[in-house]
Amino acid sequence: MGKVFRFERKTNGLQKINMRDIVIGDSNFVVMAGPCAVENREQLISTAKCVKESGSHFLRGGAFKPRVSPYSFQGLGEEGLELLNEAKKETGLLIITELMDKSDFGLIDRCADIIQVGSRNMHNYSLLKFLGETQKPVMLKRGYSATIEEWLLAAEYIHIYGNSNVILCERGIRTFDNTTRFTLDLGAVALIKSFTNYPVFVDPSHGSGMRELVGPLAKAAVVVGADGLLIEVHTDPDQALSDGKQSLSCEDFSRLMDELNPICSLVGKKLM
Ligand code: PEP
Ligand code: MN
Repeated sequence: MGKVFRFERKTNGLQKINMRDIVIGDSNFVVMAGPCAVENREQLISTAKCVKESGSHFLRGGAFKPRVSPYSFQGLGEEGLELLNEAKKETGLLIITELMDKSDFGLIDRCADIIQVGSRNMHNYSLLKFLGETQKPVMLKRGYSATIEEWLLAAEYIHIYGNSNVILCERGIRTFDNTTRFTLDLGAVALIKSFTNYPVFVDPSHGSGMRELVGPLAKAAVVVGADGLLIEVHTDPDQALSDGKQSLSCEDFSRLMDELNPICSLVGKKLM
């Protein structure tokens, strides 16, 4: 299988990553959910409580947001991290949040259990090398124009610089079709699972841009062998400061979690 790539890869990922009492990979299915961006205390704490009640063990939420337009909400920065810390203390949820600039690592390290490298930074090799020199678990999102090989080589950067705690996340790619925001490449998930040990997550929120598609794609992700999901949830999606169209309400998220349970059992996975 390695022959389909132009370059020889030396690493193959880790079968599982232990975090507190949660094991990512192996035969577990882990859901991480929360708002696209941390907006304010009320929004974050109420979303944290709702995703926890539905069974999520992780709260997602960006404090530093990579927005296409400089005029869009850029995230609350340090204040957002403080709110994530509060939510963590109040709910006990583990935290995943995005690091855009290595100068913010010290701040993010104090609250994040997993550092997210966003799609737009998958090719930021100095950031990848920097994270490779830490032992922090990293979720590496696929660049939306990156080939599977480029994505695996980006993961390899983190790995060979010393950090093997890498989780991949398929979040949709650009194709000729712009009916949906991106095209979720579930074939890539099945392929990568077939010849590496990397835990692979799927983000059906960015992968479609439409909340109506999040449930069907999340279920399909379980079936193709994903190890978990990253899902955007907002207490009031229509008022969200970013990505409201692809955010599930708390009720929709709770229903989806119920629906995922038997599908996980069907493929021999345990929904954590
Ligand atoms: C996000 O998860 O909110 C995000 C910005 O994702 P991506 O980097 O995949 O666009
Ligand atoms: Mn988003």
